[in-house]
Amino acid sequence: MIDSLPETYIPLLPEVKAFLSQPVMPYIGGRYVAPRSEQVFETYDPSSGRRLAQVGRAQKDDADVAVKAARAAFDQGDWWLKMSPADRSKCIWRLAELIEKHGAVLAQLDSLDNGKPLETTRTVDVPLSADHLYYYAGWPPRIEGSTIPVSQHTMFNYTLREPVGVVGLISPWNYPLLMATWKFAPALAAGNCVIVKPAEQTPLSALYLARLTEEAGFPPGVFNVLPGYGEEAGAALVEHHGVDKIGFTGSVEVARKIVQGSTGNLKRVSLELGGKSPNIVFADADLERAVVGSTWAIFGNNGQSCTAGSRLYIERSVFDQVIAGMKEETRKIRVGPGMAQQQPDLGPVVSDEQLGRVMGYVHEALEQGAQAVTGGARMGGLLQDGYFIEPTIFTNVTDDLRVSREEIFGPVVCAMPFDDVEEIIGRANDTEFGLAAGLWTTDVRKAHSLAKALRAGTIWINTWGDTEAASPFGGYKQSGYGREMGKEAIDLYTEVKSVWLKTN
Ligand code: ADP
Repeated sequence: MIDSLPETYIPLLPEVKAFLSQPVMPYIGGRYVAPRSEQVFETYDPSSGRRLAQVGRAQKDDADVAVKAARAAFDQGDWWLKMSPADRSKCIWRLAELIEKHGAVLAQLDSLDNGKPLETTRTVDVPLSADHLYYYAGWPPRIEGSTIPVSQHTMFNYTLREPVGVVGLISPWNYPLLMATWKFAPALAAGNCVIVKPAEQTPLSALYLARLTEEAGFPPGVFNVLPGYGEEAGAALVEHHGVDKIGFTGSVEVARKIVQGSTGNLKRVSLELGGKSPNIVFADADLERAVVGSTWAIFGNNGQSCTAGSRLYIERSVFDQVIAGMKEETRKIRVGPGMAQQQPDLGPVVSDEQLGRVMGYVHEALEQGAQAVTGGARMGGLLQDGYFIEPTIFTNVTDDLRVSREEIFGPVVCAMPFDDVEEIIGRANDTEFGLAAGLWTTDVRKAHSLAKALRAGTIWINTWGDTEAASPFGGYKQSGYGREMGKEAIDLYTEVKSVWLKTN
């Protein structure tokens, strides 16, 4: 810990204090190693602006070392050829157990780094990460090839599903531990060796987790963590010819750089990107549930979710009623430091930069005539040192404004009325994104026909935000390509080999 934290915070666990008492280094080849340059960067508590920790700033040289370690582990087959699928399962299962065992530490690290309430990291981020690993621990013995009845009767043809190799996993800051786990769990289950590049704002939980992989029985080099800036550590992995695949979650802007940077060795790339997800409330919905669900569709995780329900379309006859209900619901939301003893419902946004970005959209919308039914400002008073924004509901906005079209990644929703089903399908789909969409209705025919008509990778009906390791997740259009989770993620991290044997 560099600066002391406010006294109103929950005391840090001894493990957290010890971990942050000295610079946290990249984890390569089964141990923590200082970057070649010996440079560090700092992470901040977004609730107070205070400095949390120094972290080794990995750059190109360090990416080379990490790739070498992962390459050696992969090429020697330590993790897939020599280790049986059953043993790989056991390692992954043990890692899930260790995440649970060290859950309190990991939760504090994520809350400190990201700002979200400890109650959330403890009950959502950490257990979901463990669940993810438990699910994928079941996969190694089930990754099967097939036998193919080829026409040549003197041939026996079958397929093998093999790991892609060394994969770089570049993850974002909104769910630091969970987003990294979404990637490395299936990648490891499929037999790959991984290099995790956590977001520079939130590298601590992945770096702590690294030590647990050793206890779980992972051979050195199978699991590596390379903290650093995107343009340095991230880009070095993207361009590296020793990396066979990049799995990325983040912005569309960075995704374009990743696709361009990956052309050198034509590595595989999968992308889970942003959204501007339409949330549609029909007049025939259970409005009480729709009001609460739509409030949390946008304000859950402070709007810092790629699936945030940030375009809210409400059937005109119930528009005022739904907005009044959401205003009331939003008033109840307590905002404060994620580590405060009096736990809030929401923390700050992640960084000064993000605060500036979100407030830029808010000010622009207000100048263009948007009406803030609630919110519309940065929070001051006791919260003035952190990056706190009032949960904001805008009305009097139109589909063509930037605030209605671009991903804000903050607690801001644009609410607009609509009149009929055909109209709303067109408006909901009129976006460059296609990650998620949702609707609230009691009409089962309408629900299923919209589920088909909406162009998005996930459709939520009378609910919002549900994901589970077993169910695929990913985007249409510029929300990315490839599907994480479920058996689809195993496809994402495997190659198919066709084997021919002449039988006469
Ligand atoms: P967000 O908008 O959510 O911050 P970003 O797309 O900026 O998302 O970042 C997501 C991840 O991508 C982070 O780990 C970041 O360090 C990394 N990143 C940023 N720029 C690059 C780049 N040029 N090459 C590779 N990775 C990058």
